[in-house]
Formats: sequence, structure tokens, C-alpha cells
Amino acid sequence: MTQIEAARNGTVTEEMERIAARENVDPEFVRRQVADGQAVIPANVNHDSLDPMVIGREFATKVNANIGNSEETSDIEGELEKLHTAVHYGADTVMDLSTGSDLDEIRTANVAHSPVPVGTVPIYEAVKRAGDAADITHDLLLDVIEKQARQGVDYMTIHAGVRMEHLPLTDGRTTGIVSRGGSILAQWIEENGMENPLYATFEEICELFHEYDVTFSLGDGLRPGCLADAGDDAQFAELDTLGELTRTAWDHDVQVMVEGPGHVPMDRVAEQVERQQDVCDGAPFYVLGPLVTDVAPGYDHITSAIGATEAGRAGAAMLCYVTPKEHLGLPEKADVRDGLAAYRIAAHAADVANGREGARDWDDALSEARYAFDWREQFDLALDPERAQAYHDQTLPGDNYKEARFCSMCGVDFCSMRIDQDARAEGEMDEIETDGDDRTDLTDSAAAEVNRPPVGTHDEAAVPETDRASAAETEGRADD
Ligand code: SF4
Repeated sequence: MTQIEAARNGTVTEEMERIAARENVDPEFVRRQVADGQAVIPANVNHDSLDPMVIGREFATKVNANIGNSEETSDIEGELEKLHTAVHYGADTVMDLSTGSDLDEIRTANVAHSPVPVGTVPIYEAVKRAGDAADITHDLLLDVIEKQARQGVDYMTIHAGVRMEHLPLTDGRTTGIVSRGGSILAQWIEENGMENPLYATFEEICELFHEYDVTFSLGDGLRPGCLADAGDDAQFAELDTLGELTRTAWDHDVQVMVEGPGHVPMDRVAEQVERQQDVCDGAPFYVLGPLVTDVAPGYDHITSAIGATEAGRAGAAMLCYVTPKEHLGLPEKADVRDGLAAYRIAAHAADVANGREGARDWDDALSEARYAFDWREQFDLALDPERAQAYHDQTLPGDNYKEARFCSMCGVDFCSMRIDQDARAEGEMDEIETDGDDRTDLTDSAAAEVNRPPVGTHDEAAVPETDRASAAETEGRADD
């Protein structure tokens, strides 16, 4: 029985109980959200190492990290290192986008070790097995999907919304079709003169997903790849199809989330989220960025985190990270770290803005430690403690500076917080309490787990830390 099927039957599953504890909500609330399709629990029945989590706009905003190999790079140890890095820096889910060799071995190793849901894009393996996109058959596609489901993949991107009738709508675009899956399927449709095979076999895919409780991530194969193409007829025609497919999946008791753009000007991000929520009856929205400007290659973790924050504020449930390498090359470990930090900030900022219960306690606790010059507590509470301490210690490394009433930014004579405290002690302003008793206690916070430090679930993670991963992390700290 799938999570949505159990929820509709009135059953609170073990996964819902665990999620309720992580989110600090009533298990019955989790059940109702899943039953109504407003939230998903990607939890393949064959994923034994999973610590269940939920994706939905009524829960803390989640972050996905993409990992995986390419034709040129990586082996199983390297892939597990990427998984470890992603979970260590706070990924709530990972997508294995491997397109190189040893796909089955890497996928099964990831699933075996990952405490977070693992997603895939099965059309990539189908292309590799067929040798050419145009040679993919319906049987091959279903075979790949069934195998990946059996291997324990929790959710799959299925680009079933790229319809034959939509392709001419992309003709006037500035950057055409930028989704890998979308471009593969467009090629298949053009060369075979037939409807998208994922659309044609959608009900059969629903039956496979039902058997293993795989969650749909309905792909946006026609997403805009630049501001000029945002919100065009092709994008919204595909979205209408995704709404139709959402309802079909629900009819099969299969969970669904829907993927979104891409590149969107800041002032139009919220309307895109609202339109998806309307067209797809509230199914969780899983957005890539969006990038709010096209002019900053090398900094697209920032251009996209700005859009992701606004999307989260407007109701997007999960944010797919973008690294500084976007558009330029395959991300490395440092890029994964920077991308995840940017997206954890975006997700938390959205949760604070949305008034998510307890979310701001973390901010308050850190601010209180800062005003108290409690440097060690500041580092411990930081989103990336290692980086916070490394930056501080670059100029003031000694232990005595861990209690100093200044840092090197303003210096001892111009430290405004020190001056303010001294003025309060001597003048008419009330002193601000800085001792431990009055500080925000995060152990009492009603915040969801992802809105409290430490970031990431690495303390409980089953992800093995390879020698290489350990060495790289040490190097990373030294580089800071
Ligand atoms: S020196 Fe400036 S930046 Fe550093 S603690 Fe004081 S006010 Fe803050």
C-alpha cells in the first residue's frame, strides 16, 4: 500500500509518525496532507536505510542536491563521497543524475547508504541502453523504470508533459529546450513522428510506481532557460498537461510533485508558483532556482537562491540547488558546499518569512550569542560552523579571542556592539541581558528539524565517509 493510499484509508503510517516528530506537527495532520495530495513522502518500499521526510508547502521548505557521474568522471567511491558531502551539508533529498558507467552499481550503492530519498531521471539510462534517443521503445522505457523502482529509488523525474503539440510553441525561443530530458524527448518525437512515450505509457508507469511506492516528480521538460522565455506558451501548455497527469496519478493512488523553472524575473516568481498550485490542485512544487537574472555565470548559486527564496515564500515546497558551476561545468565538492549553503539559506529565509512555527528561534539564538560575544556558540549555531570559525580565525586565531569583545571587522576601538554595551552600562538606556538563562533555548523550540542546527542529518547518516571524503573536508576547512 502506498503512503497516499494508506492516508486515504485513514491509516497513520510509521513514516508519518516519524515525519510528525521531525516537523513538530500532529501525525494526523501529516496523514491529511498526504491523503489530499498536498504533501508527498518519497519512500520506496525497498529503501531500507531511509529516514522518512515530507515535501509539502505546509511543512518546512526542503532542499535537493544533484549528484551523479558523467562519461568522463567518477566511480562508486567517488559517488558515495558526493552523497556524503550532500547529506553532510544539509540536502533533504539527492538526485542521482548519473549518465556515465556502472549506473546500476552506483544507484544501488546510493540507495543502500542514503538516509534521504534518492531520485533519478530514468530517460537517461534509457538513452544509454538504446544508444540513440530515437531508438528508445516503450518496452525499454518501462523496463528501465521498473528496474530502478525495484532498486529502491524513491522518486523519478518523468517528463511526460512534453507533448507533440507543444514543440512548435518553442520555435520563437531565445534558448530553445534546455532540459536534458525535454530535449531527448523532443528528439524522439521529431524522429518517430509519435507522441511522447512517457505520456503514452503514463498509466502503466503509474502501476509500476504503485507497486513500489515511487513518487512522481513530473518534469518540466519545456522550462524556460532564460528570462526571455519565462512564462511563454510552451511552458504553460506543458504545465496544463502536468495538471492533468497529477490527477491521473492520484487516481492510481500514487504520490506526485511537480517540477518548475528555471529562469524567471524576480517580479514573476510568485505568480508562477501560484499558477502551478492552481493548475496542479496543490501538488507540491519542486523548483530549480529559478535564476532571476542571466548575467552572472560563476555566481548562479546566488542568482538562483534569490529566486528560490521568493518561490519558497510563495509556496514552493522543495528547492533544487544550483551550484556556482551552473552552465559552466560539473560541480566539485566545494561547489556542492556553496550550492547547499545558498539553498539552505533560501529555504530557511522562506520559512522565517512564512512564519513557520519556531523557524526564527534559530536566528534569535545566534543573534543573542553574537551580542554576548559568545564566539564558540556563534560557530556552533552557524549554518556552516566550519566556515564561520575558519573566517574568524584567519585574523584572530588564538583562544583568547574566543571571548574578545570585538573581531577584526571593526577592530577593538570601533566595535559597535561593545560601544553600545558600555554606553548602556554607563548611561540611561536599559542593558540587554546577555547571560545564558535568558537566551533562546533551541532544545525547547517548536521548529521543524531542518530549522534547527546542526544543518544536515549527518549525525545519523548511514553514508560512509570515505578516506577521500574525509581528506577533502579537511582540505576544505584549510582553504577557508
Ligand atoms: S567588531 Fe564589528 S563585526 Fe566584530 S563583533 Fe564588533 S560590531 Fe560585530
